[in-house]
Amino acid sequence: MHRRIIAPGALAAASVLLAIPASAASASPGAPGIGDPYYPAYGNGGYDVSHYDLRLKYQPATDELEGTATILARTTQELSRFDLDFLLDVSEVRVNGAVAAFTTSGEHELEITPKTPLAKGAAVTVVVRYRGVPSSEKAYGFTSWHRTADGGVGANEPEAAWWWFPSNDHPLDKATYDVSVLVPDGTQAISNGTLQSTSSRLGWTRYNWRSSKPQATYLATLAVGKFDIATGTTESGIPVVNAWSKDLGDNAGAARASVERTGEIADWLSGYFGPYPFDALGGYVPNTNTGYALETQTRPFYSPRQFANGSNVSVVVHELAHQWYGDFVSVAGWKDIWLNEGFARYAQWLWSEHEGEGTAQELADYTYASHPADDAFWTVRPGDPGAENQFDIAVYDRGALAVQALRNEIGDEAFFAVLKGWPKQHAYGNASIADFREYAERISGKELGSLFDTWLFQPAKPAAPAARTAAIAKASAAPAQPKSWRSIAATNDVHRH
Ligand SMILES: [Zn+2]
Repeated sequence: MHRRIIAPGALAAASVLLAIPASAASASPGAPGIGDPYYPAYGNGGYDVSHYDLRLKYQPATDELEGTATILARTTQELSRFDLDFLLDVSEVRVNGAVAAFTTSGEHELEITPKTPLAKGAAVTVVVRYRGVPSSEKAYGFTSWHRTADGGVGANEPEAAWWWFPSNDHPLDKATYDVSVLVPDGTQAISNGTLQSTSSRLGWTRYNWRSSKPQATYLATLAVGKFDIATGTTESGIPVVNAWSKDLGDNAGAARASVERTGEIADWLSGYFGPYPFDALGGYVPNTNTGYALETQTRPFYSPRQFANGSNVSVVVHELAHQWYGDFVSVAGWKDIWLNEGFARYAQWLWSEHEGEGTAQELADYTYASHPADDAFWTVRPGDPGAENQFDIAVYDRGALAVQALRNEIGDEAFFAVLKGWPKQHAYGNASIADFREYAERISGKELGSLFDTWLFQPAKPAAPAARTAAIAKASAAPAQPKSWRSIAATNDVHRH
């Protein structure tokens, strides 16, 4: 889809005019990690990607994936060499049109050495040709590519891209995407964003998907299989594409009944979080046996297991809340995961309140009372849980308690102003918990250091939120279980392996 009107040589020459030429003496290798202390090898240093163009062919019968990734980037230092994160077998790499040397290292590094060093601030086009069987590839002993009866699905957090495209795999480097996938006729390819077109020829069908807003690598998804696809438009005018595997068995009705609420839920959430930030919307339910859901951008991934007990709108609320808290504004580092999970969980509490199945305060009271002071639950610090506890239930539940504590501290007016104002503060970018605290302090006019420390950073059960409902605070009996409790507790995007 990229019309190249400049020859590779001319592009390289143009780059030189814009940037100080690199010399072999001053250029150095880009770091093999972007600098995230939780995952030192994730992402890479020395460049910033603006666009991924992925042209893929997938054979469901054998799980064979072949592709060409064209990556548009800009260097942030003089580079003698740089890495991409990837697992499949690479046959050729070109940098600005010239064949480049490459090798693999570590668990998932593809090291690329361009023919000549790259200048700082230069535009770079990297073409990677590759093939492989994603389900057979493991890093750190696991795979994020889920084989299904009729295809495969790439969805996980924080690792998902390595199995289907080479990338700078960290939320700090967001980019736009064109994902074009060739699959056998009768099979569908689902990805993020807008389905621009499909075309069939010689027994194969091509699906062209476009994500026109910046997207973190872990939020990119690909699913191939036999799907029913339904299209529509939200009341606010956003086009919706939902997809369900034809192979969901008894869960099919409940899955459809839940995901078909997507437009309604997104419109409802926009009342709290501001206008929906993307130009496409939907959800998909492949026939995986994974147990989690994931907020893949514009089109969350749901597991059929989440609909085993009937419809589950709560999980749809959770994943759609992430479209603002996680996708529109992404973590600056993985330790900031509370900004995603604390707020997605809190959105489920707000939905419960909306449905008359328990107020957010009642859910907070019940959650708080459910964990005695000596429960290991309180040892997980949602503000810095560590990689091993990044998706621990405490990040969700204690995380939402922290949101309720903030609400009680600053009052509803300031609280809902923060909830709605925050996403656009860092639109399509990244932010940290420290940034959020600063923003909440500015809007509320209150110093919140002690509140944040108590609820997010201390490995101990805090004193009960000051403004808990009087009835609960006075009652000696434990708070009653809100009606929504079970469906909320069943919602987890626990992504570990
Ligand atoms: Zn989540």
